[in-house]
Amino acid sequence: MRYNRAMAKKKKHSLPVVGFIVYFSVVVGIFIVLAQVSQGGGSPRFLITLHPRPTPIPTPIPRIVTPVRVPILMYHYVEIVQDKRDTIRRGLDILPTTIDAEIATLLTHKYTPIFMSDLADYLDGKSSLPEKPIVLTFDDGYRDFYTDAYPILKKYHVKATAYVVPGFLNRPNYMTKDQVKEVAASDLIEIAAHTVHHVNLRGTQPALLTTEINESKNLLEQLIDKPVTDFAYPYGLYNQIVISAVAAAGYRTAVTTKPGDLQTKDTRFELLRLRPGGRVGIAFISWLESIKN
Ligand SMILES: [Zn+2]
Repeated sequence: MRYNRAMAKKKKHSLPVVGFIVYFSVVVGIFIVLAQVSQGGGSPRFLITLHPRPTPIPTPIPRIVTPVRVPILMYHYVEIVQDKRDTIRRGLDILPTTIDAEIATLLTHKYTPIFMSDLADYLDGKSSLPEKPIVLTFDDGYRDFYTDAYPILKKYHVKATAYVVPGFLNRPNYMTKDQVKEVAASDLIEIAAHTVHHVNLRGTQPALLTTEINESKNLLEQLIDKPVTDFAYPYGLYNQIVISAVAAAGYRTAVTTKPGDLQTKDTRFELLRLRPGGRVGIAFISWLESIKN
């Protein structure tokens, strides 16, 4: 009986105690919420208090883009020149069998062909490069790029960047617009710009300079429905005014005809290239790996 009374007494007291705990918790809770709102200046802070805080995203450490050795090989014609008197064309010429052998050699020696835009991504600190990166570039958008080079690139499934002159498309000796669209859609070929009419930019009036640089980008982008972000100076000719115009047009890189393979962020509009000529096999690789500038 005493026991029961004690229990009842205890029960009688326990209700106010529970009530006090609830009351205390509510008051403390309101206090915390009010403190958060006054600190945070409004409801967003309030919501954050009630929900688990999202995992903070680490601030990316700014990457220092170090100079990198990326050979950018420069090709023009890939064909057997029919007219033996055309010495300029013969000088720029490379046999389809030669380029086939060169690509096979590069792959045997573990080179990875990349796009110019991949190099631009590296220079922007956006991505890393594969082991032994190399860029195959083809200038001018000649018909034989489609008929001779493209089948070889497809055979080995390697990437290449083609600098196309949109004002010359559909002319004899140049690719048709449909051929450019087709190669661009393949994901193996990246289309880049080379002015509208293959002009010497160093000797061009400022207004025409801007048109040639900007319009070649616009025309090609409309044609292939992809961004065109890389540029090549016709005849390798440029100066500081030309570089500024290329940068202002929104390009990310520009290649020259100056020899070398050391590419840097600071020289992204003066990237160096190499002419492989007729070298094949081990002679090609030892030449490639002996480049010093
Ligand atoms: Zn050219």
